[in-house]
Amino acid sequence: MKKNLLDFDAAGLAGFFETLGEKPFRARQVLRWIHQSGEGDFARMSDLAKGLREKLASAALVEAPTVVGDTAAEDGTRKWLLKVDAANAVEAVFIPETSRGTLCVSSQAGCVLDCAFCSTGKQGFNRNLTTAEIIGQLWLANKELRHGADIARPISNVVMMGMGEPLLNLDNVIPALRLMLDDNAYGLSRRRVTVSTAGVVPGMDRLRDECPVALAVSLHAPNDALRDRLVPLNRKYPLGELLAACNRYLERAPRDFITFEYVMLDGVNDADSHARELAGIAARVRCKFNLIPFNPFPRSDFRRSGAERIARFADILRRAGLTVTTRKTRGDDIAAACGQLAGDVADRTRRSARRLALKEVRA
Ligand code: SAH
Repeated sequence: MKKNLLDFDAAGLAGFFETLGEKPFRARQVLRWIHQSGEGDFARMSDLAKGLREKLASAALVEAPTVVGDTAAEDGTRKWLLKVDAANAVEAVFIPETSRGTLCVSSQAGCVLDCAFCSTGKQGFNRNLTTAEIIGQLWLANKELRHGADIARPISNVVMMGMGEPLLNLDNVIPALRLMLDDNAYGLSRRRVTVSTAGVVPGMDRLRDECPVALAVSLHAPNDALRDRLVPLNRKYPLGELLAACNRYLERAPRDFITFEYVMLDGVNDADSHARELAGIAARVRCKFNLIPFNPFPRSDFRRSGAERIARFADILRRAGLTVTTRKTRGDDIAAACGQLAGDVADRTRRSARRLALKEVRA
């Protein structure tokens, strides 16, 4: 069995090179070829000795998921459907803005958490993605975006906000994060890499200890009774424990705040009283709020809060001294919004036929 070199972070690759009888600096050279130059063919790694190139070709390969769908919105947003095996595909989304380019990456095929308002949860859990399948999304997106463009580094930010719960797949997510941060690979600063979690408390502690990056927490409700319904994981890690974990995380976090995501569900969690209750619990953690207007999907039971309701909700939080942004809808010509990523080919065909999805970005 050939080793897929996308599965290794820098230390892992050095270890593999050792088993081949090669020096660590050769591993760094190869890391740069793969991740900085996007090169997957050992024969073209021109500054390696021919013997090493041949040795690598017989023992290893560079294999990313297969692109089976590539949709571009008029505003430059791109979505790739990536096949990871015969039964599973995941989605990665590129969101260009004036001052940054953000790639939204998936961590699992499906999800166990089954949040009431999320389409990924409805499809159930299939499996964890490997490190190669996670970093492979960035590797591929970089290659695709560079193609024919003159931007050397089109992706300035990565958010682990695609399909799946990253903190339930840390064995594979952490090496992928290390590659994102590694100067011989993608060289992103910790502040520009964000992991989003529904609140897996032990995972937050592990991430803090092993690879602290910016953290977003999907809050969605200001009390346990409502959050138990919307985010069933809350029954295991209720708000009190979650907020305590946020404060532990902040001791090592690269940013001095946690981003709280809050999906705006009409008549469910968007009342003035919810906003006031939220301001009360938010006072216990250094945080910023990102309000996400709900994105509908087939058979979803919720409706999006109206624009005025969202503005009023934001206003109450602001008057309590909190920083609030609202994720903005733009481009309705590709299906790629938060909570809509489903990732199977049949579903994609159905959805594009209906043209129902909206693309969401941070305002
Ligand atoms: N499992 C992780 C990351 C994936 S979801 C998490 O829960 O944070 C990324 C964000 O999109 C989360 O805040 C999630 O709650 C939100 N989301 C899910 N479904 C949505 C929907 N239908 N409309 C808007 N946001 C949604």
